[in-house]
Amino acid sequence: MIDSEVVIVGGGPAGSTCAWKLKQKGISTVVLDKKTFPRAKICAGWITPEVLRILEIKKENYPYSLTTYGSLHFHFWGRKIPILTRRQYAVRRFEFDHWLLQRAGVDVYQHEVKIIRKEFNYYIVDDTYRCRYLVGAGGTYCPVYKTFFADRYPRSARHLISTVEIEYAFNVRDEKCYLWFFENRLPGYAWYVPKKDGFLNIGMGGKLLAMKSRGKTIRRYWDDFSQKLGRLGLICQQEQQLQGWNYYIRQQHGILRWGNAFVVGDAAGLATLDMGEGIRPAVQSGIMVARTISEGIDYSHATIGKYSFPDILFL
Ligand SMILES: Cc1cc2nc3c(=O)[nH]c(=O)nc-3n(C[C@H](O)[C@H](O)[C@H](O)COP(=O)(O)OP(=O)(O)OC[C@H]3O[C@@H](n4cnc5c(N)ncnc54)[C@H](O)[C@@H]3O)c2cc1C
Repeated sequence: MIDSEVVIVGGGPAGSTCAWKLKQKGISTVVLDKKTFPRAKICAGWITPEVLRILEIKKENYPYSLTTYGSLHFHFWGRKIPILTRRQYAVRRFEFDHWLLQRAGVDVYQHEVKIIRKEFNYYIVDDTYRCRYLVGAGGTYCPVYKTFFADRYPRSARHLISTVEIEYAFNVRDEKCYLWFFENRLPGYAWYVPKKDGFLNIGMGGKLLAMKSRGKTIRRYWDDFSQKLGRLGLICQQEQQLQGWNYYIRQQHGILRWGNAFVVGDAAGLATLDMGEGIRPAVQSGIMVARTISEGIDYSHATIGKYSFPDILFL
């Protein structure tokens, strides 16, 4: 049996940030992830200045690709709308997540968590790991959420976002970051995110139930969108290896703690309501839980921003 004060299930931004803070507080922590890092993560990799601030990352100290945009370029219902945003950034997730996890400086075990039980004051994970505090950072299908929260805090299907995207090496012709909201009545938005060193991320996400009620799948929206990008000369028409993933945006109510078990990041369904931004809520919630364990402060929705716009606007 491997004993640790805290076991964190999932080594994405939520889990690694929580581990990083706990390590600073001198609390023994291990991270379990089913994948070996560096691992791929479907994500556009857009991050706000706030993410760098929370993670105490100075741009010049980040050793991998960090793309800077002077602003984001918005379109609503097919029309260009000039909105001046603060400087924004993009990372490549397989690099960023790996670097954050290494920086946390805790033991990481490659292990797919299946069965969790509570025994007196301890949580026992797959009969192999024992801890007093358990943090669920395993994303949408986190086993900690499934074991302790799913019955008490069932998520509403109305908050489920369906996405498709692709990131690939491409001779990028336009280095601006574009966003198209509600294009062809998509209940969400599509993006064009060019990255440094010749990579392009394009994708879209929208509310799954709303798409269904319009009788359209995300793939249908995607076909229209990729043709538009082709017409605009932003991509070449080519067969793309699209990938899909679902995650939850934030609900009004819900619990984030049960006993000494916590959920953070996508496991808690914390992505912002307006942009589906999940990285900032993930790192914020990771830090909050580390502080709850080490200092006893309250961990609640109130401490995590639910919108992206106030943070990205140039005020
Ligand atoms: C297409 C798409 C584009 C996006 N674009 C952006 C964006 O540009 N900006 C932004 O802020 N957000 C974006 N998001 C949201 C963002 O990717 C997530 O909100 C963020 O990754 C959440 O971090 P996390 O640490 O909670 O979960 P994750 O990053 O998903 O990490 C969870 C980890 O848990 C591990 N795990 C899962 N199950 C188990 C198990 N049983 N046992 C052990 N380990 C397990 C996984 O391997 C994974 O490493 C996007 C999401 C999608 C789908």
